[in-house]
Amino acid sequence: MAADPVSSIEAGDFRITLVRAGSYWWDGGALFGVVPKTLWSRHHTSDELNRIEAGFNCFVVEGGKSRLLIETGGGVRHDPRALERTRMAPDVSAAGSVAAAGFEPESFDIVINTHLHWDHCGGNTVDLPDGRVAPAFPNARYVTQRGELEHAREQLPRDAVSYRAVNYEPLVESGRMHLLDGDMEVAPGVRLQVAPGHNRDMMVVIVGDGRDKWCHLADLAPYGAQITPTWVAGFDLFPLQTIETKTQLFGRAAAEGWRCSFGHDPKISFARVVERDGKFALA
Ligand SMILES: [Zn+2]
Repeated sequence: MAADPVSSIEAGDFRITLVRAGSYWWDGGALFGVVPKTLWSRHHTSDELNRIEAGFNCFVVEGGKSRLLIETGGGVRHDPRALERTRMAPDVSAAGSVAAAGFEPESFDIVINTHLHWDHCGGNTVDLPDGRVAPAFPNARYVTQRGELEHAREQLPRDAVSYRAVNYEPLVESGRMHLLDGDMEVAPGVRLQVAPGHNRDMMVVIVGDGRDKWCHLADLAPYGAQITPTWVAGFDLFPLQTIETKTQLFGRAAAEGWRCSFGHDPKISFARVVERDGKFALA
């Protein structure tokens, strides 16, 4: 059963609210890579087509003078075949979901796309009746890595299908999309860190100060069960790098008692990372 779609924690001076902008269902084998179903099925129940649920996990971060949104979900530009293949609802958007949770789309200052795969930035923009494309968060500046945009534009055979220009090019053209060259503190206490593995330039988001931090792992660990570093999704372009990045980052998280969130876990909203007998676990 899915968890409450909206839940919050405090981290330092920040309040972080998970808003699940719907979900999609994708092949469990693809999502867990070389991990056999005998193991991943202990964590997720698949349907008759071996699909498991993947939440479009978006996060509202409030603190200081800014209101930020991390990720904008899968959006609504899907044909009927795609909707059927993925069990996606046709009309669930990040803007609508955050508005329903009490956060007006106009109130966001910054929108962070950890990377530009369709399931993380599909709600960046909306189609106007006159055919123009407009930002779904009209007063926000959007941020992502420059290298990720360059990679998206290469349209390589392996992952071109993940990149849809309408989700980001109109924002680049209008000067709304700010392109980062590496790690960046995007607002006081909100740090973006390049975490390679899923692809070259995906970022994680670390919020808070001192020992009270929260980290959005995005697709470095789409599911909580992937807290084991070798449990890597089949999509990752650089799986050995994923294992290395996870091991480093989870080591920090466990040492400092961070709470973490996952790109697509439909049940786990926030969990503390611990290290026991050399293994990482969630508490
Ligand atoms: Zn994803």
